[in-house]
Amino acid sequence: MFEKVLIANRGEIALRIYRACREMGIGTVAVHSTEDQHAMHVRLADEAVCIGPAASAESYLNIPAILSAATVTNTDAIHPGVGFLSENENFATMVEEHGFTFIGPSADHIRLMGDKITAKDAMKERGVPVVPGSDEAISTFEEAKKIAAETGYPLLIKASGGGGGRGMQIVEDESRLEEALNIAQREAEMFFGNKEVFIEKYLLNPRHIEIQILADGQGGVIHLGERDCSIQRRHQKLIEEAPSPALNAEMREKIGTLCVNAVRDLGYKGAGTLEFLYSNGEFFFIEMNTRIQVEHPVSEMITGVDLIREQIRIASGSKLSITQDDIVFNGHAIECRINAENPRTFMPSPGTIGDYHIPGGLGVRVDSALYAGYKIPSHYDSLVSKLIVHGKTRNECIMRLNRALKEYVISGIETTIPLQSDVINHADFLNGHYNVHWLEAYLKSLEEAESNLEDSAA
Ligand code: ADP
Repeated sequence: MFEKVLIANRGEIALRIYRACREMGIGTVAVHSTEDQHAMHVRLADEAVCIGPAASAESYLNIPAILSAATVTNTDAIHPGVGFLSENENFATMVEEHGFTFIGPSADHIRLMGDKITAKDAMKERGVPVVPGSDEAISTFEEAKKIAAETGYPLLIKASGGGGGRGMQIVEDESRLEEALNIAQREAEMFFGNKEVFIEKYLLNPRHIEIQILADGQGGVIHLGERDCSIQRRHQKLIEEAPSPALNAEMREKIGTLCVNAVRDLGYKGAGTLEFLYSNGEFFFIEMNTRIQVEHPVSEMITGVDLIREQIRIASGSKLSITQDDIVFNGHAIECRINAENPRTFMPSPGTIGDYHIPGGLGVRVDSALYAGYKIPSHYDSLVSKLIVHGKTRNECIMRLNRALKEYVISGIETTIPLQSDVINHADFLNGHYNVHWLEAYLKSLEEAESNLEDSAA
């Protein structure tokens, strides 16, 4: 086992990794920007190295600086966390070339899955159903028209190297196809440095359901069930739950086994998530994330498996400590991603935390790097806390989440808590009747109700 792990990240995920290392008796090295000098991950880790100025490009994305920090601290392995360099094949390669262990899959698997076209092809070849569309990149209007004739409208033009919900164009009919193709190619080049785009059938009311897998690269592959991440705004997740209200045990086992077999056949090693759209009882693969995910705690809460510990064990060459038969799904878990944002406009709301009180009690978990007096920098992601709640049943879980959200005091900034409180009490959420468009429609209905009120007052 490793003696020392460098955590190449910040915020709550850096703390999450620190906690797993600490419980395993592994020393930790934090890296940080000048802006993050007083951040909690820096304060808790055994050692800390400043790797550059506030801008991520010069610090958390600065590969030479991170490798130098690993060298001077005599680190054994590097955990990339989520975002930043976690799906950067070049980083994974360089980490290994410099004699450290990358806690994640091989650079080849990161490359294969980092491109949505090759990822879909790899899964299709292994019997996993994918969203209908083009098997290859589309470059001309003629090609696009040909595929559109097969998929029908509406369709989606997506960046092959896309991520973070960006770079997608919905096309309602042929009149906008050419323009949308041009915009998608330009944006893909601008955002992701890869102008390849492809076409997918636009599914009208799907749920986003993803399967968590763990593979030790020595034949041991298991799944830990699904997470339903359909409550989204601009294709970004805001509330996630496990199990999904839409699946039963038989469906879970079927899709889980399909994923396990595909991942085993790929020779994949590490934690990974296969993301699907689920519509009318059918699953359609959209992409695979070759890293731990922000919403991993809901799977941990219902299985009792520490996913970061398993990632570290796998990277150190150990076999999985659990088999599929050991995985027993227990109760229900929901996560709220609490962002430092206005709950209606979603404008970032960085600032200094005043009073801070975290909820507690049975079944309540808070993964956050906040503390009273902490100044949230404006340079990074607005996710500041994850509130994860477990209950014996979905109903108990929602009741508990209600009281935990009420208890949570984060003063000095605006957060998404008021919106999350409203959503979990909405009849549609309570009934489990929602899809990926639900939240946007709900927000629109609030706006309309407000403008009607203004009209009648005028
Ligand atoms: P990213 O990598 O940018 O997160 P994904 O391919 O994972 O993009 O898709 C993110 C979200 O976009 C999905 O959860 C879903 O809400 C929506 N989406 C993606 N593909 C489709 C599709 N073919 N039809 C309808 N919605 C889609």
